[in-house]
Amino acid sequence: MAKKAAFFTLGCKTNQYETEAMASAFRSHGYETVDFDETADVYIINTCTVTHLGDRKSRQVIRRAVRKNPEAVIGVTGCYAQTSPGEVLNIPGVDLVIGTRDKSRIVELVEEAEKSPRPVNTVGDAMSYREFEDLTILDYENRTRAFVKIQEGCSNFCSYCIIPYARGPLRSRTPESVLTEVRKLVAQGFGEIVLTGIHIGAYGAGLSEQTDLSDLVVRIALTPGLKRLRLGSVEPLDITPRLIDAVARIRTVCRHLHIPLQSGDDHILQMMNRKYTTFEFSRLIGAIRGQIPEIAITTDVITGFPGETDEHFDNTYEFIKDIGFSRTHVFKYSPRKGTPAAVLPGQVPAEVKDLRSRRLIALDRENQKRYAAGFIGSNLEVLAEEPADGDNDLWEGLTDTYIRVLFKSSEDIRGKLVNVRAVKLKGTSLLARMRI
Ligand code: SF4
Repeated sequence: MAKKAAFFTLGCKTNQYETEAMASAFRSHGYETVDFDETADVYIINTCTVTHLGDRKSRQVIRRAVRKNPEAVIGVTGCYAQTSPGEVLNIPGVDLVIGTRDKSRIVELVEEAEKSPRPVNTVGDAMSYREFEDLTILDYENRTRAFVKIQEGCSNFCSYCIIPYARGPLRSRTPESVLTEVRKLVAQGFGEIVLTGIHIGAYGAGLSEQTDLSDLVVRIALTPGLKRLRLGSVEPLDITPRLIDAVARIRTVCRHLHIPLQSGDDHILQMMNRKYTTFEFSRLIGAIRGQIPEIAITTDVITGFPGETDEHFDNTYEFIKDIGFSRTHVFKYSPRKGTPAAVLPGQVPAEVKDLRSRRLIALDRENQKRYAAGFIGSNLEVLAEEPADGDNDLWEGLTDTYIRVLFKSSEDIRGKLVNVRAVKLKGTSLLARMRI
C-alpha cells in the first residue's frame, strides 16, 4: 500500500507554491497525498514567521500533526523553521527541519529522517544562500490557477520585516526554467498563471544575463495557448514604464497590479525603511491609470507601526481613500524579534491597533464595492473556479481585474474562461449572467 503524505501551508503564495511542489515530488515517488486531517505516514508543515501569530500557528499545527500520528515522520520547513530551528526542534516529535532551502530534496530528506535515531536539521545561514533552488511541479490537484515561483529572497530590509533574514539575498530562476514550467502548465490546461516570489520586481538579480520582470512577462506572454498571466506583489519602486506598458499592451496579462503601500504617512514610511514617499506613490498610480484606467490596484497596509499617532493613521486612512484601491489587505503591526522596528519606542496598544484595523477594513469594503460597481453593465471574462457554497448551478470566478463574480451555469465549467454580463453588486462581488 502506498505511503501517505499530508501537507499544511501557512503564510504567503510562495509557500503555497512550494508546498504544491513538495506534494508533487512525493506523488512522483509513489506516495499518496492526503488531507492534513487524515492519518498519514509523513506530515510536512510549511511554516511562516511574518508575525508572531505565524510562529504560534506554526507550532500549533506541528503539535496537531504529532498528535494525529506519533509514528509519522514530521518535517518542518519554511520561514519559521529557518529563523528558529531550535524552537522547532524543541517540539517533541519533530523529525526533520529544513528551513527555506532543500525543499527540492524533501523526499530524500524525509527518508533519511525516517532512519535517523535523532532529528535531522539542514538549516544553514540564509544570508549565504546564493542559488535559486528550482522546484518543479509535475502535477497539480486543482487546475484553475497555477503559481510559478520566479525569484527568491529580498534585500530591502524594511524595518518590520524578518523575510530578508529568513529567505536570504536576491536570486532569480532562469527564464528558460520559468518558460518550461509555464508551457507545461498551459499544456495541462491551467487557465491562469500567477508569477510569485518574495520580491518579484527584482527579477533578474543574480542571473548572468541582463533581464528584468518586464522582459520575462513579454517572453511568457508569447507562450502559445496561454490564457491569463497575473503578477504577484510588485514593490512600487520596481514598477517601470516598460512593465506598465506590458500590462497595458498584452491582452493575456491581467489588468491588476498588487503594489504594497504599507503606510500613507511619510514619517511612518521612513521609519519602515520604505524608500518612497506618498507623493511618489500617488504619482506612480497616476501614471499606471493614465495608461490603463480600469486597472485593479490592490495593496497591503500595516497599521499600528511603532510611533503611529492618530494623525499618522488619519493620513494613511485619507491616502487609501484618495487612491481608491480596489482591495486593501490590512495587517496589524506585530513586532518580530531581530528586526529594527521591534525595539522602536512607541509600540501601539493592541486595542488601538484593533480599532484602526477595523476602520481600514470598513474603508476597504467601500472601496471594493465602488470599484466593482464600475463594471455593472459591462461584458466581462471570468475564470470559472467552482460552484458557490450550497448551490451547484451558481458558479464563482475572478475577472482579470480581480473581482469575484457569481453567475449561473448548469455545465461543469471549472477552469474555463467564460463571458458574462455584470448585472449588480452582491456584497463586494458582482452578480452576472452568462453570455452565449
Ligand atoms: S520588500 Fe520589505 S516587506 Fe517585502 S519582503 Fe522585502 S523586506 Fe519584507
